[in-house]
Amino acid sequence: MATEKQDRELEMDLVALLAKSFPGMTVEARHSKRWDRMCLTFRWAGFTGLLPEERFQRLVAVISESFRKERLSGCVWLELAQDETIDQFLRMPRSEDIADREQAIFGDLQDRGFFDTLREAMNPTPTKACKGDFSRTAGALSKGRSAHKVTQDAKLLFIRHGAYCDCQVLAEVEPALSKLSVGAV
Ligand SMILES: [Zn+2]
Repeated sequence: MATEKQDRELEMDLVALLAKSFPGMTVEARHSKRWDRMCLTFRWAGFTGLLPEERFQRLVAVISESFRKERLSGCVWLELAQDETIDQFLRMPRSEDIADREQAIFGDLQDRGFFDTLREAMNPTPTKACKGDFSRTAGALSKGRSAHKVTQDAKLLFIRHGAYCDCQVLAEVEPALSKLSVGAV
């Protein structure tokens, strides 16, 4: 059973670890009655506009696997934007929510010419043009009806296929989904 002192130490160690990549982030380590286990709350203004899985991915890119195994195992993680409540966070969509709509979302993106637009925007070298996020995906889908919903579905689809940034969409998700849709015909 972790002591109060150990919890405060863990908070300080995490803040020190994350401060450079997430300026101004606060971390709280508390036992949660809701989940009956230790709960880590990462609060950062920069999480605004990012889906829960994008936020988590940003954190695990900085917190090493050994640190996670030794000191964070069994913890619930909450990645909250400024002034966001836990319930608001839990209501946000996860990639598993679109599991039965994958082909429809992919087909819609193809119809919109999305992948060509993205490729053009990232020419000639997508890995160099990539900012490590979905900003160009969002840009390519920013116009037209239901732009917010279309963008969100696209991001959930890409995350479901292991991509967390624009260059991975072109390198991995598009080829994988193209193969699947050919197979489905
Ligand atoms: Zn990338």
